[in-house]
Parts: sequence; C-alpha cells; structure tokens
Amino acid sequence: MSDVRNVIIIGSGPAGYTAALYTARASLKPLVFEGAVTAGGALMNTTDVENFPGFRDGIMGPDLMDNMRAQAERFGAELVPDDVVSVDLTGDIKTVTDTAGTVHRAKAVIVTTGSQHRKLGLPNEDALSGRGVSWCATCDGFFFKDQDIAVVGGGDTAMEEATFLSRFAKSVTIVHRRDTLRASKAMQERAFADPKIKFAWDSEVAAIHGEQKLSGLTLRNTKTGETSELAVTGLFIAVGHDPRTELFKGQLELDDEGYLKVNAPSTRTNLTGVFGAGDVVDHTYRQAITAAGTGCSAALDAERFLAALA
Ligand code: FAD
Repeated sequence: MSDVRNVIIIGSGPAGYTAALYTARASLKPLVFEGAVTAGGALMNTTDVENFPGFRDGIMGPDLMDNMRAQAERFGAELVPDDVVSVDLTGDIKTVTDTAGTVHRAKAVIVTTGSQHRKLGLPNEDALSGRGVSWCATCDGFFFKDQDIAVVGGGDTAMEEATFLSRFAKSVTIVHRRDTLRASKAMQERAFADPKIKFAWDSEVAAIHGEQKLSGLTLRNTKTGETSELAVTGLFIAVGHDPRTELFKGQLELDDEGYLKVNAPSTRTNLTGVFGAGDVVDHTYRQAITAAGTGCSAALDAERFLAALA
C-alpha cells in the first residue's frame, strides 16, 4: 500500500495551512488540496488584517495566507491548487478524487473547506469588499470609528453585528426586507434599546455606490418599490453563511445548518480517521485565529490517530 498517504487535507485557509504545517513538521508528508479558484481561503479577498496575533502593524490578507502557505511548504507539505470533487471516507483507507479523476488514498483526512458568506449579488459588492463592504464586524468594525454604517439582515447575526458596531460608529442602520425581525427576542431588544441603531424596514439594498471606497447605498422599499439614498461608508452584510459540506453529505454527520459536526473539544467527526476544523465546523467565532487554532487541533488529533495505528 505504498501509495497510501498518511493524511490528506482538503482546504487551504488558515485551518488547512495550519493543519498542513503541523502534520508536515510531524513528518506525515500531508497532501493539501487548496481549491482551484480560491487557494488561500477567505482572507484572499480582504485587505488589512489587524487581529491576527504576531503582526503588530497588521498584514494584508493575501500576504498572511502566502506566509502560511510558504511555512507549510517549507516543512514538506505537498500543495495542489485543485478541487476535490468526490470522497469516500467510510473505510480504513479514505479516497479523495481530484478534478482530473485521479484517486488519492490516505489513512486520515482533515476537512477544512470553510464556509461561504452569502452575498447580495449586486454589482460592486466584490469590488468594494475590504473597501467599505464587509462580512465581519469583529474583523472590520474598528475601521469605521465615527462613521455611518448599514447592516443588512434580520437575524441574530445582524443584530449582534449592529450592536457591536454601534460601539464605534456614529450611526448604524439595519436594512431588513420585512417589518419584523427573525432574531431572538433578547437580541432584538438590545438593538431596539440602542440609541445609535435605526431601522430601514421593508427595505433591500438595490445598489452599492463608490469607486475606490463605499460612498452610499440605494435602498428599495420591498412593498412600494420606491427607492431612497442612504449615505454610509460601511456596509456589513449579515444574511448568512453556507458551510462547504456538499461533498460530505451522506458520509459525515452535519448539523441542521449543514456545518460539520465534531466531537468537541476534539476535531473527530463521526467517521474514524476523519477530522474537521475551521469555519466548516464553526458557526460561532469564524475568525482566522480560531480557524488556525482548530487546524492545529485537527493535525494533532490526526497525528495521534496515526500513531495508534502503527
Ligand atoms: P477558508 O478560509 O474559507 O478556506 C477554505 C478553503 O477550502 C478555501 O481555500 C477553499 O478553496 C477550500 N475548499 C473548499 N472546498 C474545497 C474542495 N472541494 N476542494 C479543495 N479545496 C476546497 N478573520 C479574521 O480573523 N480577521 C479578519 O480581518 C478577517 N477578515 C475577513 C474578511 C473577509 C472579506 C472575509 C470573508 C472573512 C474575514 N475573516 C477574518 C474571517 C476569516 O477569513 C475566516 O474565519 C477564515 O478564513 C476561516 O478559515 P478556514 O480555513 O476555516 O476556511
């Protein structure tokens, strides 16, 4: 069984590269599928990252990911910029198939495929990402001190982001398609009680304006179709995330929202020899440092699992 690897890692964000670094330094020669289009993960789409420890002056997202990649490669991780298109994780030997149809085999697999934030689907949304448009208040709120900000969404995340942002912002307008919120009562009450938070009810974002930076939004009333302008320099989109678990359905246990279930605090999934880490598991913290942290845990779990086989 010389072609059977110790470990294959699927995904190349902070979780995947950290798992790669640790398993490489443990001489396990990991094979890492980085993804065909989005190698490096979510931080490839952002500018300044100011909350990853170790970078006193902050670091650009793509630079941070290039460093993580190079660090893993330095210790012998084999990195492949390709997608995994199917898996069979049920047996003792797991198989992972790439886009060319080549089947790769391993005793352990670490899943770090991340999650995709839902977009509004508007022109300019991607172009202004990191330039006023954001999906993460914890990451970017600090950049919006004394500014007027909009938050789109009506669930718990939107309320939490708005309440958090109101600490920094001059004003926060919650833009919501309906006239009632989906958020829990407690979260709603906190938002209603906050003097800096306003609501644009029955409203959706119809257009995002700005050249180099966000300068404002056009809102459309969902009942009357009337439009109005909202001058904001920040737009936080909180309309949900989709964990990338399609590949694993029917094999790995997922929760109601499709996130990978692990036997926390370990990273073990329901299948022996399969581990999960990062945002594909985590709907609570969703930070680069927490993804890197659980990527480390998954590597150590895989290492111990492989040691017990020997
Ligand atoms: P991801 O980074 O999402 O990486 C998942 C990887 O898996 C991707 O590379 C993808 O290509 C790959 N993949 C998926 N499916 C397959 C497949 N079938 N085959 C092969 N590969 C696959 N966090 C902070 O801490 N600070 C910040 O300032 C910050 N800013 C952010 C700004 C933006 C715009 C966004 C979107 C997020 C930001 N975050 C920030 C959050 C942070 O990026 C995520 O929490 C973190 O990247 C999650 O890491 P991950 O490794 O779990 O997944």
